Formats: sequence, C-alpha cells, structure tokens
Amino acid sequence: MREFLKTKGYKMTPQRELVFRSFFELGEHVSVDELFDRVRQIDKAVGYSTVWRNLKLICEVGLAREVNVGDGVTRYDRVTRKPHGHFYCVSCKSLLEFDLNEIAGRLAKVATAEKFETESFKVEIEGVCKSCRDKENRKTKRSLSESPGVSKAKLSKKR
Ligand SMILES: [Zn+2]
Ligand SMILES: [Zn+2]
Repeated sequence: MREFLKTKGYKMTPQRELVFRSFFELGEHVSVDELFDRVRQIDKAVGYSTVWRNLKLICEVGLAREVNVGDGVTRYDRVTRKPHGHFYCVSCKSLLEFDLNEIAGRLAKVATAEKFETESFKVEIEGVCKSCRDKENRKTKRSLSESPGVSKAKLSKKR
C-alpha cells in the first residue's frame, strides 16, 4: 500500500495507514461516521477531517467507490470486490447486494451499441426488503385481515 500510494504521489503516514486499514476491514457500504467510530476505537487522536480526507483519497486513487442511494448518506464500497448491484430498503435503510455479473455484460453491450464509452456503472433498486415486508404482513394480518397486497413492495429502478 505504501508503494502504491507513492506511485500516486502520496506519502503513507501512521494516521493515514490507520484510516486505510480500518476502511478495508469494514469493506462494504462504509459511511464516514462508521469509519470515524472505527478509527477512534484505536486512536482517539485522529480527527474527523483526517478520516474524511483520507476516505476521499482512497476513492481518488481508485480503491473505493461512492454508493449513493438517495437517503443523504454517502457510503463507500471497496472496488476490489466483485461487481454487484444494490437493493436499498426504504423502510429499514439496509443495503443488500446482488450479483451483477450476468447483466454487466449486457449493459456493456448496450453502451457499445450507442457508441458510449463506459467507465463505470451502478445498479440501485429501491424498495422494501423481505424482512420488512414480513413484519408488515404480520401487523396487517393481526389488525385487519382485509386488503391483501397492501404491503406488496413496488420495486422502482433508478435511472
Ligand atoms: Zn455494495
Ligand atoms: Zn428492510
């Protein structure tokens, strides 16, 4: 990592190393706050802006990518992981992943056909996850046995 950063023109410092290590330990869908908490468990001297700056750096050198699902919280995924899309549950705010391998090829073909050069793409689907729907179902069953389908989640594909 030290050598890698050097080739990008950055020096590795102890605090930077801690932020990097903490991020890669968390790995998926990391928010700045989460990363900050993690770092502070090890070193209370590291400030929020240091964590923030280094997280930006991790993205800048291409090791992480932003995940934005429109709830105002930016999360970060390390890019060495396999391509995946996200299901975002609007009810419990959880992010679930699904394999993108199968449709990634098709998306690339669409882009090529349109003479568009793809650098990256993301697939994010908003809706309600199964456990939230189950909870909702149990509630409605208890109170009202009428109106089935009330909690049928509609998946909306963004972009
Ligand atoms: Zn992810
Ligand atoms: Zn949910």
